[in-house]
Formats: sequence, structure tokens, C-alpha cells
Amino acid sequence: MSDNDIIKKLTKDLLRQIGEDPDREGLLKTPSRVAKAWEFFSRGYKQDIEEIINGAIFNEDAKDMVIVRDVEFFSLCEHHLLPFFGKAHVGYIPNGKVIGLSKFARVADWVFSRPHIQEEAVMILADEIERLCEPKGLGIIIKAQHYCMKLRGVKESQCSMVNSVVRGDFRHDSSLKQEFFELVRQQSNVAKNY
Ligand code: ZN
Repeated sequence: MSDNDIIKKLTKDLLRQIGEDPDREGLLKTPSRVAKAWEFFSRGYKQDIEEIINGAIFNEDAKDMVIVRDVEFFSLCEHHLLPFFGKAHVGYIPNGKVIGLSKFARVADWVFSRPHIQEEAVMILADEIERLCEPKGLGIIIKAQHYCMKLRGVKESQCSMVNSVVRGDFRHDSSLKQEFFELVRQQSNVAKNY
């Protein structure tokens, strides 16, 4: 049985379990749609990050802070398998290597295309950027809304979660860290606060 067939079967079982009739007309194609959706949600497991980067790491003498804002992402929370989505802001100080700008979005997509908790995802993203371009300093801020909070329990529909990680010079030099946070705050169009 292929992965696809297993997910179709699980979906039928789930529908039955919640009291539905998976053989009624409106639901007939649901298992195959769900299988397809899951293939997309979990694509990160099958992608090779080196292929995604495709050599877009350039030797460059730039020494100033680079800020990449508003990198959109979508993921599933690993506690409920419900969507969370938002934007990531990355700042780094190159140490001889820079990453092609569009690749930040690709790396973020790779990281987020599997279930996560937000706190862990930001660490994995930071690890990956550090591995790829070994910056002197790195900061990432992530702001996301979680459907498990919007829909269940507390029903905090406007609530969002912000978390950040700082590495290297951003960790050791508080004025640099401050500069990064200020630059993101001033220029981000996500919201007043990041
Ligand atoms: Zn959740």
C-alpha cells in the first residue's frame, strides 16, 4: 500500500469515527483530496535542502547587517495538526558568505513544511542559516497565529505568538541586537510590533 493509499484509508476511518458516512456522495473524493493535501503539508521530509539552495551562497565581502523581512510561512502545529502561519524576519551579519535573497523564503518553507512547535521551528531555521552561511551574528523573529488557539478552548482569535532567537554577535553585543529588533519593528509591515 502506498503512503497515499494509507492516508486515504485513515481519512475514511476518521470520517467514520466522527460519525460520518465516507461513502456519501459529498465525501467520496475527500480521502484522495486529504491525501494530496498531506503530501503538500509534509513535503519538507522529502526535499533536499542542498537542492533547494542550489549553490546560491555567494562569497561576498559585505560586513553590514542584512535584514530580510516578511518571509511568509505556513505550518502545522505538532500538538493538534492544525495550521499556524505568519511571517519570519531574519537579520544577519555576513562573514564572507551571503545567501541569495529569495533562498531565505525557500529555506523557511523547507523548515516549516512539516509539523512543528513554533519555538522549535525558529531554532531549526537558525541552525540551517548558520550552517549555510556561517554569519557572525544572526537574529530571527517569528510572529504567527495558531488555529489551535483560534478555534479551540480559549478562542483567542486575534492572539499571535512572537518568538525570537539571536546567535553570535547578536547575542554578545546588545546594541547590535537592539539595532536588529529596531530595524524589523520600524520597517515591517506585518504589524506595529514586529
Ligand atoms: Zn496546537
